[in-house]
Amino acid sequence: MSIITLISTVVLLLMATAFTTFQYYSFRESEKNKLSSLALVIASNSSAALAFDSKEDANEILDALKADKHIVVACLYNNQGEVFAVYPATLNKEELPQKPPKSGMDFKQAFLEGYQPVVQKNLHLGTLYIKSDLENIYVQMKSNTIIAFFLIAVALLITYILSKVLQKTISHPIIALERTAKIISEGKDYSVRADKNGNDELGSLTDAFNQMLSQIEIQNSEIKKANEESTKLAAIVASSADAILSCSLDLIITSCNASTERIVEFSCEELIGRPASLLIHPDHQNRIVEIISQLKSGNNIDSFETQFVTKTGKVLDVSLTISPVNSSENDLTGLSLTARDITLQKESERKIVENEEQLRLAVEAAELATYDWDLKKETLHGDKRFSELVGLQQDDYNSDKGIFFKSIHEEDRERVNQLVKSALNKSFSGGTFDVEYRIVKENKKLKWVRAKGKVFFDQDEKPVRFIGTVLDITNKKQEEIRKNDFIAIISHELKTPLTTIRSYVQLLLSKAKKEGDAFTINSLTRTESQAKKMTSMIKDFLSLARIEEGKLQLSMEAVDLAPLLEEIYHEAYLLNSQHVIELKDCVDLKVWADRDKLGQVLINLISNAIKYSPHGSTITIGCEKQGDEKVKIYVKDEGIGISQQDQEKLFNRFYRVDNERVKTVSGFGIGLYIVSEILLYHNSKIMVESMEGKGSTFYFSLNTHA
Ligand code: ADP
Repeated sequence: MSIITLISTVVLLLMATAFTTFQYYSFRESEKNKLSSLALVIASNSSAALAFDSKEDANEILDALKADKHIVVACLYNNQGEVFAVYPATLNKEELPQKPPKSGMDFKQAFLEGYQPVVQKNLHLGTLYIKSDLENIYVQMKSNTIIAFFLIAVALLITYILSKVLQKTISHPIIALERTAKIISEGKDYSVRADKNGNDELGSLTDAFNQMLSQIEIQNSEIKKANEESTKLAAIVASSADAILSCSLDLIITSCNASTERIVEFSCEELIGRPASLLIHPDHQNRIVEIISQLKSGNNIDSFETQFVTKTGKVLDVSLTISPVNSSENDLTGLSLTARDITLQKESERKIVENEEQLRLAVEAAELATYDWDLKKETLHGDKRFSELVGLQQDDYNSDKGIFFKSIHEEDRERVNQLVKSALNKSFSGGTFDVEYRIVKENKKLKWVRAKGKVFFDQDEKPVRFIGTVLDITNKKQEEIRKNDFIAIISHELKTPLTTIRSYVQLLLSKAKKEGDAFTINSLTRTESQAKKMTSMIKDFLSLARIEEGKLQLSMEAVDLAPLLEEIYHEAYLLNSQHVIELKDCVDLKVWADRDKLGQVLINLISNAIKYSPHGSTITIGCEKQGDEKVKIYVKDEGIGISQQDQEKLFNRFYRVDNERVKTVSGFGIGLYIVSEILLYHNSKIMVESMEGKGSTFYFSLNTHA
């Protein structure tokens, strides 16, 4: 609006000035013409007066000039140049020009003056001088100027009104665009669009503006995405445990992450601008040069192992990946180096190799055979010695695991099978496997072996791997068998006379009771108790021998617990009457077991409870029904208890706790071993809960039926 108004004003002013100037000059010309004509008329009228030298006539003629109020002076000179007549008559002659100059009209200051020769028939009679003011011009100019200003004002008003109207069509869309641009630049929201009004140039401009916004919006979201992506990448690089460096193509370091500083001990500031070869061990420099030239020729290089040297000169094993960095035009512009410190890993690998070698030597020296059963891949690998021991080819037992069991002596097969099954059950065995059994070789020769193993489980406690060793114990076993046979023979030989002794003692006891001989009764009762103790010990020795030979035989039946426990209770009571023995909740409960062996188990547990708890304390023999399938049987005492450490070894053969209290009690350390073995044959397991000084509870579960 201002511009339009300004331009209009300038144009109008210029026009008004031009017009006024033109008018001024044309007014002046016309005034000049008018005065010339008047001068000519007066001059020709005055010729007679001059010719006849009649001043009176001359004055009269000049006086006629009164009609024109703008004629201020008029004068007639005679031929000699003397003033002949003047107008107005009162005019001071001093004010007149002395001599009439040449003819012509001229503007002088605010007047127009001029000379007109008075001529009659080519005779010069004198000169008329005439002077007019320019009031006429001024008046006209004034009115013209007023009109011009009025017209300018009107024109400006019209311009203003017109520009107001135009503003709506031109400025409005532009202002709308400007407002939109402002919103966008302040709020950085490129989803805003300008409103389009009409299909003229401004409509096209709005369209173009909106299109540009769409483009910016797309680019902006791409930039945002790229920024987010690069922020993420930067965070990954910064937090990576690997050293990550970027280099130019000539391997000058341009940036590095925090882990680089930690690994190579140089700060990034020290590294940037220096060659990456600074970090690479001199022995590996050539290889790096070779790899980089391969990368440059477009080949991809896998990560490889090399060595770095740190600032303090430490040599590190690293796994290095060199990757090309390409521009958006896919030109190779640089390289990125990712180095993982594998010094510890390498060290452990070296240690593993060493350990493996040591182990191999030890296994070789100990003449151990080793096996590795991968339960996932279902492969069974044994070393040469293992194949020799089992008398089978690796391919045979690998393809058919059954064949391996067939090499086991048939009397041991089921037992070994059961132990393998329980080793594979983590909750049952903890994955340990330790068994002695016989192998029947092709030539029918027997070999005794001791197989020890460990099962590894996955997160779901599923067995995945079973590895272990097998040792040929034939010689040792044969000696043991001879010893066991000897014990068995002795035990057996002792059993018969002892039975006879016990029957005679019982006979004598009933006789003494009849006679009321207190001393004899007492002596014979003690003798019977000791004989019973011996019977039970002999029974254990016989069982031990049978277990060792793998010959323990069970005769399973449904055992009524209450009467069995009653018998044992009496037997125990006979052994010792200084403890309170309680029977709890066992009435009407049955279990599927070998009655005699179960009795042996319970006698062992009760006699231990008696042995290892103080006089007067209570021993509880109790039962707990576990659903319909199982019954838990426990023997609880208030005795010396067993440390956690000892609890783990308690069921080993000949194990006795090494403390003063135990040393005073007689025993061989075979009772609990027999208990655990007998229960193993019943597919059960003896467990113990104990606290030193508080007492122990031994318990196990048995099935209620077959
Ligand atoms: P022992 O003939 O020595 O009793 P066992 O095999 O029966 O042999 O027991 C092994 C060891 O376990 C015992 O020497 C004893 O130290 C410990 N022990 C067994 N039962 C108990 C118990 N009820 N209280 C404390 N210690 C026990």
